[in-house]
Amino acid sequence: MPTQSTSDKLAQLKADILKQNICPELAESATQLVMGHGNPEAEVVFIGEAPGKNEDLQGRPFVGAAGKFLDEMLAAANLVRSDVYITNIVKYRPPNNRDPLPAEKMAFWPYLVRELQIIQPKIVVTLGRHSMEYFLPNAKITAVHGQPKRISFQDRKQVIMPLYHPAAALYNGGLRQTLLDDFARIPGVLEQLN
Ligand code: URA
Repeated sequence: MPTQSTSDKLAQLKADILKQNICPELAESATQLVMGHGNPEAEVVFIGEAPGKNEDLQGRPFVGAAGKFLDEMLAAANLVRSDVYITNIVKYRPPNNRDPLPAEKMAFWPYLVRELQIIQPKIVVTLGRHSMEYFLPNAKITAVHGQPKRISFQDRKQVIMPLYHPAAALYNGGLRQTLLDDFARIPGVLEQLN
């Protein structure tokens, strides 16, 4: 039997989330499931929080205002979207853009774990505290942002780079440069791992 490609495995993951009816209330209020997007063989995976209005309508992560800033930051790290893979912990839009609930994050967590097992990135970049807290449970973003951390994750070592959420920089101009500086460190961290 031919082995399943990475893209096939990601398609299967999507089918399983739909079949297992994860977070039925969110599924009901959202337009669609927003799966990760980008290069399935990426060395860097970015994990946000949950889709917002534009993401819900277009079915792709980070296509609204925060996504525009994400593109700018990727450019600062000499990366483009087709080099990386971008996803969210919760894959349906919470109503009125409220924060995802702990139970919603927990329901989607096993699927995020599978997503990472399929892609096997060299670096997982968490965007904001909702995705950071699952990988670095006691970390404070103000203390650890921009610093790569090596953790044990599903029987292997995984480098996690916690960053502020790009939307935070839209509300707090002071964070903008911090995020750009943190982002620009990604190629150096990758180089050390290669
Ligand atoms: N914010 C997120 O965390 N994810 C998106 O996909 C868009 C905005």
